[in-house]
Amino acid sequence: MSQMLQENLTKLDGHLARFRNRTLGHFIDGEEVEGVSRETFTNITPLDNSPVNEVARGAADDVNRAADAAVRAFEEWRDMPGALRRGLLHGIADAIEARAEEIALVESFDTGQPLRFMSNAALRGAENFRFYADRAPEARNGLSTPADQHVNYSIRQPIGPVGVITPWNTPFMLSTWKIAPALAAGCTVVHKPAEWSPLTASLLAEICRDAGLPAGVLNTVNGTGEEAGVALTEQPYIRAIAFVGESQTGRSIMGQGAGTLKRVHFELGGKNPVIVFDDADLERALDACTFMIYSLNGERCTSSSRLLVQATIYDEFCARVAERAGRIRVGHPLDPATEVGPLIHPRHLEKVLGYCSLARSEGANVAVGGGPPVDAATGNYVAPTLFTQARNDMRIAQEEIFGPVLTAIPFDDEAQAVELANEVEFGLAGYVWTGDVGRSHRLARDLDAGMIWVNSENNRHLPTPFGGMKASGIGRDGGDYSFDFYMETKNVCISLGTHRVPSLGKA
Ligand code: NAD
Repeated sequence: MSQMLQENLTKLDGHLARFRNRTLGHFIDGEEVEGVSRETFTNITPLDNSPVNEVARGAADDVNRAADAAVRAFEEWRDMPGALRRGLLHGIADAIEARAEEIALVESFDTGQPLRFMSNAALRGAENFRFYADRAPEARNGLSTPADQHVNYSIRQPIGPVGVITPWNTPFMLSTWKIAPALAAGCTVVHKPAEWSPLTASLLAEICRDAGLPAGVLNTVNGTGEEAGVALTEQPYIRAIAFVGESQTGRSIMGQGAGTLKRVHFELGGKNPVIVFDDADLERALDACTFMIYSLNGERCTSSSRLLVQATIYDEFCARVAERAGRIRVGHPLDPATEVGPLIHPRHLEKVLGYCSLARSEGANVAVGGGPPVDAATGNYVAPTLFTQARNDMRIAQEEIFGPVLTAIPFDDEAQAVELANEVEFGLAGYVWTGDVGRSHRLARDLDAGMIWVNSENNRHLPTPFGGMKASGIGRDGGDYSFDFYMETKNVCISLGTHRVPSLGKA
């Protein structure tokens, strides 16, 4: 065991002490509370699937309690001057930065994501708060749209208490991505974190309280999707649901929210193509392709999980990807040298391994990986995998596997590359590698995806719109786009006193 790993394990022990041998409750109205039913579920670590702690298994009673707190808090929070809100949100960002190492260690342990990525993810959480802190004073701004005889202007106001439902893959960063703009807009929040990785959501709730966020502005209810999640989407005081997770869950939530006419914002699954033309800078393309599928254990919505390579370079390029994949360091997520850690849960491991068997039965070639690494410790480990000789109509090319598993398909020309890229139910991201400027613009136009990166891996700039088309989502986050979701736009029309008012029944 490396000295760095040993040191990280010692630090982790200190941070976990607060969770061990007790039940993690909900966080409602500024304090941690027991669940109404006292029922719990067991949280396990993907390191070896051993129990870590018990967590309150929330249901409708807990969600209602949290929604009541969010409704009460909304009265003051929505009217807090923007400058004050900005100061508070910057205070939260400061506190996240101060506890970034703790967040990263706990999250790595809870999710199996390598620490090298989680350290950055914690800091990105702070950045999300900073970015929206600075926009809080302008969140209400609207447009002036004068007509001939009327003045029109719009103003925005927060929609009300909102529900935020997040997945397990990078839970801390993703929850800040939703919660920070909601708070900046003046909404209050009930957050339902994923049941497979509940720990860091409680740290965020505590950080927000300690930074002075008024009680009830951010509430966290733990529990399963079927119980707490369903209850939140059906809760009548909750005006909108911001959801990040699987496309199938998005479909369910849309139905569940229909009775209360919920506004929904969905960031869902992906099966994102990376298209490599033979005129590209192949060294940079190789780095990006391997990074975008094998980083974060491949448990990443924007992973480039379909590799479309021009036939002229297909064999050589795939051989180089396989060589890189074979050298990736799979291991303990808290070891700073580790590049791929264990998958989140034994059920997810089973799903990913199922696709490895499927690849063989569909007739693809397993160029590298395809099962647990030879020297795997206990835990949900999968060796970085590449399927070649695949066709786009195979399930391994169509379905989101959400693991360190890449499916490579050859194409002949630009038209075929676009066709293959778009022949899938998802439309989150597309990556293009080419040296031809005109072609890069044509593909950016023709690919059905919410986000296109040309000659680049996924590179986030917070003012830009983030989100997917087709089964990958509804709505956009980032910049001002988030405010469109968390706020109502109201138009005000004032007559200049010169227009003819229509009359009825006049003598
Ligand atoms: P999931 O849909 O199973 O669960 C996500 C959350 O929804 C969890 O908190 C879960 O408890 C809750 N949930 C489940 N059923 C529910 C229901 N009926 N009503 C309300 N809530 C319910 O997703 P997951 O397996 O946790 O996460 C992986 C998925 O998330 C992948 O598909 C991935 O692509 C997607 N994802 C998308 C983005 C994006 O930005 N597009 C980002 C990260 C992850």
